[in-house]
Amino acid sequence: MSGVIVVLGRQGSGKGTQCGLLQQRYGGVVHVSTGDMMRGAAASGTPLGRRTEALMAAGELIPDDVMCDVVAERLAPLLESGSTVLLDGFPRTPAQAEALAAMTALDGLLGAVLLEVDTSEVSERMLARGRGDDTEAGIARRLELYEAQTAPLVDWFTERGLLVRIDGTGAPAEVFGRLAAAVGRLVPLGLSR
Ligand code: AMP
Repeated sequence: MSGVIVVLGRQGSGKGTQCGLLQQRYGGVVHVSTGDMMRGAAASGTPLGRRTEALMAAGELIPDDVMCDVVAERLAPLLESGSTVLLDGFPRTPAQAEALAAMTALDGLLGAVLLEVDTSEVSERMLARGRGDDTEAGIARRLELYEAQTAPLVDWFTERGLLVRIDGTGAPAEVFGRLAAAVGRLVPLGLSR
């Protein structure tokens, strides 16, 4: 069944790792990470990348209208071709959530999984991985924006009966066991292994 599963969680909660594992396990699942897309645009110096790299380096959010256009363009052909999309890093704001609901057909929003890891643990994980925007100030700013702008989406998805909470602590393989079971329930009609 074609549609979008949103992967929610603080920065450093393991969304990228877990989406990679899900993509390996299940045929027809495509991982779309807006952070990876924007880092790619910055690295290859596209007009979009040049416009947004300073915001990313500072840990600030890219404006909603820009992100919604980027995501709509990426999702359209995937949904058209019947893929199941794991959407990682979007939506990040209530306006983005409304835009996503408009992009997917009525039954195209399959659900949202929330990887729960607390702030002190994700801060440690990010300092250890040491990406370009993983400075102490950058991490603090991104987590502050997560609480202010993205955490309210937990209610947004819960109210629509779409949220599944997953304990994101422990070894990646353990988290994957919990997550794969939840994703399997969200797409009962058949992800092929
Ligand atoms: P991430 O790897 O998901 O933490 O994204 C890295 C950076 O890309 C963020 O700190 C933002 O600057 C930008 N970004 C990615 N996705 C979004 C989004 N949905 N809305 C706004 N900015 C985003």
